[in-house]
Amino acid sequence: MMKTLCILGATGSIGGSTLDVVERHPDRYRVGALTAHKSFDALLELSLKYTPDVAVLSGLTPSDDLVKRWKQSGLKTELIFGPQGLISAVDTSTVVMAAIVGAAGLPPTLHAVSKGKTVLLANKEALVMTGALFMRLVQRSGAIVLPVDSEHNAVFQCFGQTSHQTAAPKVVQRITLTASGGPFLRRSIASLSSVTPDEACAHPNWVMGRKISVDSATMMNKGLELIEAKWLFDLAPTHLKVLIHPQSIVHAMVEFCDGSVLAQLSNPDMRVPIAHALAFPERIATGVKSLDLASVGSLQFEVPDRARFPCLDLAYRVLGDSGTLAAILNAANEVAVEAFLAQQIAYLQIAEVIQATLDAVPAGSAASLEMVLAADAQARAKAAAHVAALGA
Ligand code: NAD
Ligand code: MG
Repeated sequence: MMKTLCILGATGSIGGSTLDVVERHPDRYRVGALTAHKSFDALLELSLKYTPDVAVLSGLTPSDDLVKRWKQSGLKTELIFGPQGLISAVDTSTVVMAAIVGAAGLPPTLHAVSKGKTVLLANKEALVMTGALFMRLVQRSGAIVLPVDSEHNAVFQCFGQTSHQTAAPKVVQRITLTASGGPFLRRSIASLSSVTPDEACAHPNWVMGRKISVDSATMMNKGLELIEAKWLFDLAPTHLKVLIHPQSIVHAMVEFCDGSVLAQLSNPDMRVPIAHALAFPERIATGVKSLDLASVGSLQFEVPDRARFPCLDLAYRVLGDSGTLAAILNAANEVAVEAFLAQQIAYLQIAEVIQATLDAVPAGSAASLEMVLAADAQARAKAAAHVAALGA
């Protein structure tokens, strides 16, 4: 009954929501490992509270001061420095919450899959980059992958399966992922040229890390989610649809061959999909506020405006490809968003950098991890050069 859990990215938004759910169910979960990139103080605080076997600071090298402070805390938890620690963290547990942001989460997530763990997947970039390779590894190792991304978790719930297979049942005709439209849904397109990182990160319905917040503003997040859905549910792009739904109450819809449409609804709170993935096929309490549709009033849906969201178009451009194009798109997006957050480029230049990178880096086969990582590196170099040229 008791499961040991590793949380990759424990100090982030998904990591915090996961610990909030875990804390409500001490009879079900014990924390085997917690990882953070550089935030020593936050990791120490979490470790004092959850007493994991292992704690990892993947972005730091050991220093006498930090080692001394850890010892002085009296913790028995082993502290590991450097990215290799993420692999050790995975090895402590049977269930792994993959909640590192971006491509940095790929090595430990793939390691968890290859070891046949139960992987709760928030880190969509890992699947977007490696697609078929990732899903083949799942089949081969017998790993269980459960979607944490709210839309994909909603789709999986609507499938109504009791098995953990994520492939869509044959009777599924279409799935619709909803998107809030982000903070700039109603702003004039002309005024978008001057938006600041803080404005882009001020999401109307969700509180998230800064990278995914910018992705939500540009709708690249929905683009990455289309690619994520294609692989998880084994569906062709023609079966995937996006609708803007500003209230973020309906997370996804699944249409069956008889015309029935099932949707999953909840208040926008990531503890809902996290708890679903943690407990599947059971259900557990989350502390999430009960949904009051009368106070929400109305649920609206609209087709995304392609001129307002060029990043969504760029994702559609690569959606049909099974090679390295998605990894190139993802890498260019990571570089562009980081540059925007560092105020090196303007908001509208995010799409420009991604487009220039897609135009410059040739698509190739994604049959091996080496091929994917080579495409990722090439795309990062091109995108960085484009950022530098824009800043010059
Ligand atoms: P966040 O920025 O709040 O947290 C990221 C975590 O990863 C932190 O613990 C950080 O220390 C760690 N990290 C950052 N860079 C790292 C690196 N280079 N190496 C190792 N660790 C690193 O991000 P988040 O909002 O929690 O998102 C995490 C993942 O979940 C992303 O892939 C995101 O797309 C996905 N996701 C998030 C939400 C949400 O509501 N926040 C919803 C759906 C999916
Ligand atoms: Mg999502």
